[in-house]
Amino acid sequence: MIINPLTNDFIRIPFPDRIDAIRDAIAEEAIRAGRDPSEISLMAVTKTVPPEKVNLAIEKGITLLGENRVQEMLSKYESYRAGSHIHFIGGLQTNKVKYIVGKVEMIESVDSLRLAEEIGKRSVAAGVVTDILCEINIGGEESKGGIAPFAAEELIRQMAEIPGIHLRGLMTIPPYCEDEKVVESFFDKTHALLLDIRAKNIDNIDMDVLSMGMSHDFLSAVRHGSTVLRLGRILFGERIY
Ligand SMILES: *Cc1c(COP(=O)(O)O)cnc(C)c1O
Repeated sequence: MIINPLTNDFIRIPFPDRIDAIRDAIAEEAIRAGRDPSEISLMAVTKTVPPEKVNLAIEKGITLLGENRVQEMLSKYESYRAGSHIHFIGGLQTNKVKYIVGKVEMIESVDSLRLAEEIGKRSVAAGVVTDILCEINIGGEESKGGIAPFAAEELIRQMAEIPGIHLRGLMTIPPYCEDEKVVESFFDKTHALLLDIRAKNIDNIDMDVLSMGMSHDFLSAVRHGSTVLRLGRILFGERIY
């Protein structure tokens, strides 16, 4: 089912109670797909959302937050309630890495050796290890970040050698599409790529995280092996820029 983030059944339920309904739907879909709901994390994507509202989601138990702008994250993260974990999920310039290392638990949008090396260098300097995901451009779209699927293994082998980072899996944003079958084929390809690379048993990496699924397609992502659903509008309502 492709969900319209503006006119779906969840959005009629007031925030933050809506979160319970979304969580239930994810668990039901997971069970239908023969999966354990506990292996799927619900991430709250916080862009444009004021910290007070984010904190209501944290109170409801959503402790994983997704930030996609460095500036916005720096202005907000100190206001978040204790117990939250931040993943950086947006396009990241190399010269901004130093501002977020040590503040984020994972950087999901790593798609070049240069970026991985900078994260490694800054992490070593800060005395931390930063988890990363390799972002895959599964639809081959020029407008999007991510590396082409055929080039992923080579890049991941190089990432595995870099001190200060620990590769944990893949992230993708498939092309927006109204046809559920098309969306699912992109999720399926990304999942297959994860399993393929996992089977190579590359040293120093894990392939246990698959971050895919947004407000319009998260239930499809559950059926195709996602372990992190990155939800913005369906949780918080339409973004006001
Ligand atoms: C904004 C954003 C999301 C969430 O999108 P919604 O449609 O609001 O759920 C997920 N992932 C990334 C990388 C984003 O930038």
